[in-house]
Amino acid sequence: MSNNTAISCNLVNNSSSASGNCPLVGKMITIKKRKNKSFVPLGVPKFNGSIEEEGLVFDMKIEKTLTPVDKINIEILNKQNGTIIFQEEITDRNKLSEGDHEWTWDGFDTNDVLDTKLLRSLEIEIKATAFMGTQSSFHSEEFKIKRELKHKWVDIKINKSNNTIDVTLKINFKDGGTNGLNRRVPASVITNNGNIAPIRTRTETFSTLKSWAISGINQYWSRNVVINGITYSVSINAIQSSANSMKTPKIIYCTNQTGGRSRNWEASRILFYNIGYLKYKGQWYLANKNKTDKHYRHTSAHEVGHEILKAYGGHLYSKRHKETSTLVTQSPLPNTPYPLRGEIDLMKYSSDRYYPNRFYTHSKAAEKDVNGLIWLTKIKIK
Ligand SMILES: [Zn+2]
Repeated sequence: MSNNTAISCNLVNNSSSASGNCPLVGKMITIKKRKNKSFVPLGVPKFNGSIEEEGLVFDMKIEKTLTPVDKINIEILNKQNGTIIFQEEITDRNKLSEGDHEWTWDGFDTNDVLDTKLLRSLEIEIKATAFMGTQSSFHSEEFKIKRELKHKWVDIKINKSNNTIDVTLKINFKDGGTNGLNRRVPASVITNNGNIAPIRTRTETFSTLKSWAISGINQYWSRNVVINGITYSVSINAIQSSANSMKTPKIIYCTNQTGGRSRNWEASRILFYNIGYLKYKGQWYLANKNKTDKHYRHTSAHEVGHEILKAYGGHLYSKRHKETSTLVTQSPLPNTPYPLRGEIDLMKYSSDRYYPNRFYTHSKAAEKDVNGLIWLTKIKIK
């Protein structure tokens, strides 16, 4: 006798079967991953606008069965502890017919959360179970989630139930020490400024400057974005980390000389905190502490932003400040005024000689660049 489908239920007790169904001996269903396939959470497009896959596609095959398939249950399981990450019941008859079908998982779990860091830590199993009357048959396969891109410094957690996206950015500020503490400031300059003494010991520690730099990144890169017609609130959480962090400037405390010009590219990475007596085009002035602290946070967000722009849009997009500056001398291009209303792009230069009053309140990383952070978390199946 070799009629598999006629086998009595109580002969087969080595297979898990839900709600008392009788497992079949023959495989009535198979589900297979497509190797090295990748997708971007929420299908955020590439920098050039090209479409990205929004999920992992699996190939499902339903064999010819004597009894029609009533439903298929697909489970994405955490292999280590057996818990269900996601599951879907298919009852649409068109999707239960004999032959080849596709099934797509967008990476979200049963709570509508997609967490790139968590997914990479799991051994995952996909299991498809076909139910035919009182009988069932299943097939499963294991896989792992990896990064598609080399940028290990960004991870995201998307929560579709409250439309929030938490972005973790690993940065690694280093202590660049001080410049100018022992430099002389002309006596006349000190007299003209109410005899305020030049700074001789640093007034802010590296640790303080680091925390202000981090708060600047979080402030200027957090914003609302619209993806597929849905508004998400994106919160940036920059964390200091020596492992897997992006290239990050050293921080130098600078006073009693020409203020340092911050930069962050392959040849040099310095974030300056310019305070106290400073020279600009040969003229001495005393920095306004409140403005200095505000500007420093803005500059931190801008400089760190160069690495994000480079990773997402390439060298020229980053170094030419999104078509608002020259490449070599890093000067603003003519006719690039600050906008009179709306957002001021954190990463753009301007030909205007003065910052507008609303500079710090309206500066933001552009929506496209923040979406770029999501794109950078592109996922691959292994
Ligand atoms: Zn710049």
